[in-house]
Amino acid sequence: RNDQLDAWDRENMFHPSTHLAQHARGESASRIVKSGSGVHIEDRDGNRLLDGFAGLYCVNVGYGRTEIADAIAEQARELAYYHAYVGHGTEASITLSKMVLDRAPAGMSKVYFGLGGSDANETNIKLIWYYNNILGRPQKKKIISRWRGYHGSGLMTGSLTGLELFHKKFDLPLDTVIHTEAPYFFRREDISMDEAAFTAHCAARLEELIAREGADTIAAMVAEPILGTGGIVPPPAGYWEAIQKVLEKHDILLVADEVVTGFGRLGTMMGSDHYGIRPDLITIAKGLTSAYAPLSGSIVGDKMWKVLEQGTDENGAIGHGWTYSAHPIGAAAGVANLKLIDSLGLVENAGTVGRYLREGLTDALGGHRNVGEVRGDGMLAAVELVEDREARRFYDPAGKVAPKVVAAMLSRGVIARAMPQGDILGFAPPLCLTREEADTIVSAARDAVAEVLG
Ligand code: PLP
Repeated sequence: RNDQLDAWDRENMFHPSTHLAQHARGESASRIVKSGSGVHIEDRDGNRLLDGFAGLYCVNVGYGRTEIADAIAEQARELAYYHAYVGHGTEASITLSKMVLDRAPAGMSKVYFGLGGSDANETNIKLIWYYNNILGRPQKKKIISRWRGYHGSGLMTGSLTGLELFHKKFDLPLDTVIHTEAPYFFRREDISMDEAAFTAHCAARLEELIAREGADTIAAMVAEPILGTGGIVPPPAGYWEAIQKVLEKHDILLVADEVVTGFGRLGTMMGSDHYGIRPDLITIAKGLTSAYAPLSGSIVGDKMWKVLEQGTDENGAIGHGWTYSAHPIGAAAGVANLKLIDSLGLVENAGTVGRYLREGLTDALGGHRNVGEVRGDGMLAAVELVEDREARRFYDPAGKVAPKVVAAMLSRGVIARAMPQGDILGFAPPLCLTREEADTIVSAARDAVAEVLG
């Protein structure tokens, strides 16, 4: 054991989404993770943990896949890097583009590769602005996103993200971003509404926002098929049809942020297929490589592509690109990963074992007085904790219990995530989860809730 690492970690490094002062004082020592296999990770002290969140819902195929490791090593030996600018490509990235388009919903035309979900969303917004400039309507610029949406941590993407933590003290959101209501049925203000009425309410709120701001100033809406980091909240019945009707009426583009839902998580290859979404652009990352190497993508639909193509002919090369766009190592990982998702039948497994996991959580916890709701879709599940279910009293943010339950689960060898806003236990295991492993998650959750809440 190298104790020096603890000191170096405190002295030299700061971590994402971490309490900076506490970490520097050594009050939140890092778990130093050494290895992973299947749904498990192991730390340097030999603790083996079942990862019920697949890293950050990204290790879709599970840990330790030698097929992907070999593909990465081979690519690194043959050609670790060459850029993808004007007239250059690599076998891996071109092959992956074909594989991505083959798996995309109908009506998609091209893919541009980036590094992570945040930069892919930045690319998408720039493409939308470029598109409207080519069409001679530069004033059509504002972007709608939803409260509780998560779209990244950049200046634009942090603005699109509808979580308070990502705005305060950063002077965000930027003023081109406007937010609409989250389709959060469980937390609806008017408890008398059924799902259909709540869907109509969400569509009406969107209409009001568009009327207030002016449709000619609004370019697009960005949304996850199912709210992820904002609480793992599936949309109410009919939501996507109702929202798309409003957007189409006002000539507002739709970006489906499929960073979490892409490549199997909902039991379909893409989340858009699952909910009947007809996007103009799709953001992909995480499951594209199962996080074996960083890679993201912006998939552009036919309607936008026809215009973008014309624009570049007239105006010259598009002024957008990263050094690491279509990085060969990420692309090699992506090719091997998508092949594995197919050969292991992981899309189907996500649907069947995901349902089994949710049913298990519902049986174990659905009747507990402090459980407001067990919900999810595909291999995504959430348990919302409440102070009093009957009185619909939610926990005070200062008195959050989800982190305590997560800690109690960890002491039982299972990783879940306390979602950043509200009091919600989140589950997003690798898509290769078995029923036995789902049972392990469920019993750890049941025992942990009993320990913390009685
Ligand atoms: N979009 C969604 C839906 C996400 O969940 C995330 C990350 O969790 C992002 C975008 C940002 O991706 P990244 O962290 O790779 O920049």
